[in-house]
Amino acid sequence: MNKVFGFISHLFGFERLSQYENDYLHDANIRSCSYMGFIVVVLEAWMLVRQTYSKIIPKYQAGGDLFELFVKYTSKYWLFLLIGLGLMLFCLFYQRDQKLSKGKFITLFSIGTACMLYTAVLKLESFTKAGDSITPVMASIMNAMLILVYVFLFVIGVSIVTYVLFKYLKNKNIVVLEHVAIIAFTLVCLAFGIFVSYSDFWGGKEIICFLTMVLYVGCLLIYRPYVTILILGACFMGFYKILLTYQGGLTFQKQDIVISGVTQKIISGDSVNYVTFFISLATICFAIYHGRLKEARKSKELEKSAKEDQLTGLYNYSYFSELAADRIRNLSGDFGENVLLFIDVHNFKAFNDQRGFEEGDRFLVKFGEYLSDIFRGSLFARQADDHFVVMTKTDGLLEKLNALNELVHGYDNEILLGINCGAYHLSSNTEDPRMSIDRARYAAHMIKNRFQTIYIEYDKTMSEAYHKRLYIINNIDNAVKNAWIVPFYQPVVWSETGELCGCEVLARWMDPVYGQLFPNEFIPVLEEYRLIHKLDKAIFEFACRDLRAALDAGRPVVPISLNFSRLDFELMDAVTELDSLAAKYNIDRALIHVEVTESALTDNFTKLVEAMNRIKELGYSLWLDDFGSGYSSLNVLKDYQFDVIKIDMRFLSNLESSEKARTLIDCIIKMANRINMLTLTEGVETEVQAEFLNKVGCNRLQGYLFGKPMPKDALYERIEKGELVVSDKCL
Ligand code: C2E
Ligand code: CA
Ligand code: CA
Repeated sequence: MNKVFGFISHLFGFERLSQYENDYLHDANIRSCSYMGFIVVVLEAWMLVRQTYSKIIPKYQAGGDLFELFVKYTSKYWLFLLIGLGLMLFCLFYQRDQKLSKGKFITLFSIGTACMLYTAVLKLESFTKAGDSITPVMASIMNAMLILVYVFLFVIGVSIVTYVLFKYLKNKNIVVLEHVAIIAFTLVCLAFGIFVSYSDFWGGKEIICFLTMVLYVGCLLIYRPYVTILILGACFMGFYKILLTYQGGLTFQKQDIVISGVTQKIISGDSVNYVTFFISLATICFAIYHGRLKEARKSKELEKSAKEDQLTGLYNYSYFSELAADRIRNLSGDFGENVLLFIDVHNFKAFNDQRGFEEGDRFLVKFGEYLSDIFRGSLFARQADDHFVVMTKTDGLLEKLNALNELVHGYDNEILLGINCGAYHLSSNTEDPRMSIDRARYAAHMIKNRFQTIYIEYDKTMSEAYHKRLYIINNIDNAVKNAWIVPFYQPVVWSETGELCGCEVLARWMDPVYGQLFPNEFIPVLEEYRLIHKLDKAIFEFACRDLRAALDAGRPVVPISLNFSRLDFELMDAVTELDSLAAKYNIDRALIHVEVTESALTDNFTKLVEAMNRIKELGYSLWLDDFGSGYSSLNVLKDYQFDVIKIDMRFLSNLESSEKARTLIDCIIKMANRINMLTLTEGVETEVQAEFLNKVGCNRLQGYLFGKPMPKDALYERIEKGELVVSDKCL
C-alpha cells in the first residue's frame, strides 16, 4: 500500500525535491520563458502591423482621431508585446545567484514603470462593446478578462518597482521576481489562448490558439505534474464552459450559418477532443517532468563529482583552488591573518601497509570528518592520498591542529599516527592558492619524519630551497633538451678479481644557474611531481648513445645498469621505451641491466608484475636495488625473478665493529645463492669490507673504493691508465 502511495506521490510530483533539483527545474523554466517571450514578441509585433494596416489607417483616413484609434485597436497587443519583451529580456540575462547589477536594475525598473504607466493611460474605449457579432456574454467575458490582465499588469508593475528597489538597495538576489516571471508567463499565455480562441471562435476552428498556448505552458514550463494538471484542467474546463454559451445565445447571422443541430455536433465532437487532448497533455507533462528530474539528478552527480573528492566527500583540490582564489581576491585588511595549510598524515604509509587499503580508506574518511569538525567555517579539501589542505585564519590555529593531532593519534592504538602541517601566510590578495599550498607543502615536507613537530611555517630560509625545487620542476624539459642531464658512470667490479664488470648509470644535472645538482636534489622532486619518466627516458637514451659510440670506436665495453623509478612504469610504457632505445642504438640486450628498488615493488600492482616479466622475457638482466632498506624484501624475492640482488650500503656501515652485521650479510648472500640469485654489495669504501664480502661469496662490488660516479671520459681515462681493468667475461 505504502509502495503504491509512494509511486503515486512520485508520479504526481508530491515528493520533496532537493534544493539542487528545484533550482535545476527553475533554471530550465526561466530558459523556457525566454523562448516564449521571443515568440510572443514576434507574434504581437505582427499583430500590431496587421492592425495598423487593416484598422487604424483606413479609419484614420476616414477622419478618425489617431490616438483614440491607436488605443482602441492596438492596446491589447502592446500589452502582450510589453510583457513578452520584458520577460524575454529578463530571462535572457538571467543568471543564478547573481546579485542585481546596475544595468539589470535599470531594465527591470523601466519595465515596472512602463507597466504601471501603460495601465494608467488606458481608456475605456478599448473595451469591447456588445453589437453585431458580439453577444453581451462574450463582450463581458472579454472585458472581465481584460480588466483582470490590466489589474494584474498594474500590480506587477508596482511590485517590480518596489521589489527591485528594495533588493537593489540591499544588494540582494531577485529570486522572487523569477517566480513572478514564470507565473506571469503561464497566466498570460493561458489568458491569451482563451481570449483569442474565444473571440475568434469560428465553428471550433480557432481552438488552435488555445491549444497552442496550453501546449506552451504544459510542455515548455515544468511545474510539478499535479500543479500542471490542475492549472490545465481548470483551463480546459473553463474554456469548454465558455464555448457552451454558443449553443444557447450565439447565432452567426452575418455569415448565415444555421447553428442549431450542426453546432451541437461540433461541440460534442470537440468535447471528446478536449478530453483526449487533455489526457495526452497530462501524460506528456508527466514524461517531461520526470525526464527533467532525471536530468537534474544526473547533472547533480556530475557537478558533485567535479567538486568532490570521491572517497571523503570533501571538496577536491581543483574546486578548493577555485574557491580559495575567490576568497583571496576578496580579502582586505591584514592578509597575514589568513593562512593556507598543507596537512600530511604522519606514518600513513605504514598504516596502509599493515592494515590494508580498505582500512586506510576508512581512516581517510574519518580524517575528513575530523577536519570538518575542527575547521568548521573554513575552506578545506583533500588534495590527494593522505594530503589535506585548509584555508583558515591564524586565530586559534595551533589549538585546532593540536586537537586534530590528538584525534589522529588516538585512531589506532598500535600504529603511531599523527599530522605534519605546513603553513603559508598570505601576503597580498593577488596570490595564487596553488602556489601558496605548494609552499605550505614544502614546509610540511621539512618536518615529514619528525613525529613531535606537527606545525611549521614557510619562511624566508625555506624560500631559496623552495625556488630551487620550482626551478627543477619548471626546467626538466629544458634540462633534457639542452643535455644538462648527464649520465655518470660508477664502476662495478668482480669481487674475486677486482676487474670491471659493469657500470651503474647515475644521473647528474649540470645546471647553468645552480651548477652540478645531485640526484637527491632532483629525483624526489621529479617523483613527487610525476615527471621522473622524462629524466629517465633521457638518461637511458644518453647512456645508450654513449655505449653505441664506444662500440663504434672499438673501445672495450661493459654492461650498464639503469635505474628505474616505480613511476616510470606508471607514467610511460617503460619496457617498450627501453627496448626501442636498445633497438635504435643496436645494443645487445645483455649489455643492459635493469635496476628496480624493492620499495617500488611492495604492492602487487599488475602493471608492475607484467613489466618485470616482460623485462625478463626480452632478455634483460633484472636487478633488485637497495635490498634490505624497506619492509617487505622477502616477499619481493618470492614474487619476482631477479638475477642479482644489490645489498643496500647501510649494511656495511658498521661491518667492522658488528658481528651481527657480518652474519647478516653472510646469510643474505647464502640465501640469495640458494634461490639462484647473484649478489652485489653497494657502498664499499674500504679494503676490509671488500675482503670480507669476497670471503662470504658476494659476487660483485660497487663503491668509492673502486670509483665514484664519473663522466664517461673520466671512466675511459681510468681504463686507459690501467686503474680499471675490464674483465673479459662481463655477463
Ligand atoms: P642508488 O641507485 O642506490 O645509487 C647508488 C648511490 O650511492 C649513488 O648516489 C652513488 O653515488 C652512491 N654511492 C656509490 N658508492 C658509494 C660509496 O662507496 N659510499 C657512499 N657514501 N655512496 C656511494 P647518487 O648518484 O647520488 O644517486 C642517488 C640515488 O638517486 C640512486 O641511488 C638512485 O636511486 C637515484 N638515481 C640516480 N640516478 C638515477 C636515474 O637516472 N634515474 C632514477 N630513477 N634514479 C636515479
Ligand atoms: Ca641503483
Ligand atoms: Ca642502491
